[in-house]
Amino acid sequence: MEPRARILVVEDEPDIRRFVRMTLEAEGHEVFEAATVQRGLIDAGSRRPDLAIIDLGLPDGDGVGLIRELRTWSAAAMIVLSARSAETDKIGALDAGADDYLVKPFGAGELLARVRAQLRRQTLANAGADPVLRFGTVSVDLARRVVERDGQPLHLTPIEYRLLTHLASQPDRVVTHQHLLKAVWGPGHAEDTHYVRVHMANLRKKVEDDPSMPRHLLTEAGVGYRFRP
Ligand code: CA
Repeated sequence: MEPRARILVVEDEPDIRRFVRMTLEAEGHEVFEAATVQRGLIDAGSRRPDLAIIDLGLPDGDGVGLIRELRTWSAAAMIVLSARSAETDKIGALDAGADDYLVKPFGAGELLARVRAQLRRQTLANAGADPVLRFGTVSVDLARRVVERDGQPLHLTPIEYRLLTHLASQPDRVVTHQHLLKAVWGPGHAEDTHYVRVHMANLRKKVEDDPSMPRHLLTEAGVGYRFRP
């Protein structure tokens, strides 16, 4: 069972806020509620949450600005609540530092699964980085830069290696195309999202059992990718 966490919910719709609070409290988490950007900032400072759930449309500003502000000093995991139509906002929020998003309307099971994944990720990050990443039958020795599959050496190109390690070092986090391009290819390639698709397809052929049904390198349609251990 995951540890109990301190969770801040910033959402102006009372019904959704109550639903989120009751769902999380039933799991034993301590929940704080805020209905505005202003209140969210104050509570994040005074309550020091482990995780924040942030609606993008707030009465006194937008959630992306709040996330950007929080990210300058807070290590809290952040999950965005977004409307299905607001894809640009969702991407903006992820690029501003959010870790994942939930599309409204969402159910209790989905909410809890996302929260669990973020708390697990934090626990792993706090435990210190393991120099060897493992998933399925693949292991990545970060210190030696050696990748193996079923105990046999697996050859990855430098781009594939950077793509894999960048995603795998932040499991369960949604990483946008823009963010990957910057991290793997460097600045100046921000528009070349087809690079990511091409190299991802090659990488999947090497590390996934069934590249057409990936279990670890998952596509977030229109947004980016998510690594699932
Ligand atoms: Ca709202």
